[in-house]
Amino acid sequence: MFCAIVAGRAPASLVYRDPATLAFMDVNPVRPGHVLVIPTAHRAQIWELGEAESAAVYRRLPALASALKAAMAADAVTIFSLNGRAAGQTVFHLHFHLLPVHARDPLLRRRGRRVTFQLVQVRTARAELDALARRIRARLPDGAERAAGAP
Ligand code: 5GP
Repeated sequence: MFCAIVAGRAPASLVYRDPATLAFMDVNPVRPGHVLVIPTAHRAQIWELGEAESAAVYRRLPALASALKAAMAADAVTIFSLNGRAAGQTVFHLHFHLLPVHARDPLLRRRGRRVTFQLVQVRTARAELDALARRIRARLPDGAERAAGAP
């Protein structure tokens, strides 16, 4: 499914692209600004990724997380990846979720040793996703912003 986005056959609100990595808005975000970062090569799970492919994706995460935090005026950013059906993975093309978190609306709650994540997805219109993608792109370092190649 994400291969169709990589190939430009399916719509997506692009945040960043280079030959090895693509970042775009999640269509059902759990928070406004929810970004997915994927290798452009089809790899279902992280253990299928070669070292060079892994490095190419990981090296983009700091700038993407930083741009996301600034664009959403967030207090924090949570990054996670579900690998395997038992982990809850639903799209079998490796992806990292980048979630902006505000202190007033925490993602993670602790009660003693009980730790829970509050993840509720909200279907979001393409125009809103495009606007958020633009906001995040504008916070990327110059070269990276141009690399997104989106309007
Ligand atoms: P997973 O549960 O596999 O970690 O997450 C898959 C994510 O992909 C979900 O958050 C879901 O909303 C998102 N998603 C599924 N299909 C599409 C799609 O066609 N486009 C975009 N942008 N996101 C998708």
